Amino acid sequence: MPELPEVETIVRDLRPVLVGKKIVTFKVTKQRLLKNPLGQFKKFMIGATIFSVGRRAKLVLIGLSSGYTLLIHLKMTGQLVWRGSSGKIRLGGHPIVGVAAVPNRYTYITLGLAGGGKLYFNDVRTFGYFQLVKSELLAKHHLKFGPEPLTKNFTAAVLRQRLHGHPRVSIKAALLNQAVLAGLGNIYVDESLFAAGLKPSRRVGKLKSAEFIKLWSSIKQILSQAVRTRGTSFNNYRDGFGRKGTYWEKRWVYGRRGEPCRRCSRPISRTVLAGRGTHYCSNCQR
Ligand SMILES: [Zn+2]
Repeated sequence: MPELPEVETIVRDLRPVLVGKKIVTFKVTKQRLLKNPLGQFKKFMIGATIFSVGRRAKLVLIGLSSGYTLLIHLKMTGQLVWRGSSGKIRLGGHPIVGVAAVPNRYTYITLGLAGGGKLYFNDVRTFGYFQLVKSELLAKHHLKFGPEPLTKNFTAAVLRQRLHGHPRVSIKAALLNQAVLAGLGNIYVDESLFAAGLKPSRRVGKLKSAEFIKLWSSIKQILSQAVRTRGTSFNNYRDGFGRKGTYWEKRWVYGRRGEPCRRCSRPISRTVLAGRGTHYCSNCQR
């Protein structure tokens, strides 16, 4: 599943081609991808102009002149493909063979834009969704998410306070919880914990003050680096231009079981925590 850096990359790529465009058609062939009734999508999307493209947690947010915001979650296999009237393509998410061939059999939602551009949503496993939320209620909708780790407001004290209510869970499980902190998933939790020198199984309640600070700075550093390198490409993720992100080549631990630690050369371990494959160095992380 794309995490914060990958969704941020898609958003930055799509923003310049979508903002200012008027939506003229909205076509859906699999209604269960819609969280609101189809009529509502048609009413508040057709004729509306896109005035913002943003991100909250792992959601793409498309602000509309109708007073609604379109929320798109790519989940496991969702893919957004924009094709301009000249045939130019930008995409993000899961690629399908022959990405240039849109629509294809996995295209379930199509937004037609004034001027001839189109935004396609493809989803092989159909776990993704489209949701319309009144823009004025967006802040309330977002309350279920913890703070955004790349904002100035996210301080070490905020991290400590967010983790405070979960003393008995492992730090890995706590960081995967979107209500604690928004946007982190399996890859960047493992990477941040390596950078912080913390074993993923450590109980939150056992962390010392200095460890919270180290963890906070590690999360910021790992995520910033991942955004700069356009995220991680593994499995089927591609950035907004269909390119692979390069974070994958530089990753510390994730998916590196048995390979030498980049710091101490001992083999990287793998275990299962919070139901997820978890990678760490038993020597560098305590
Ligand atoms: Zn090591």
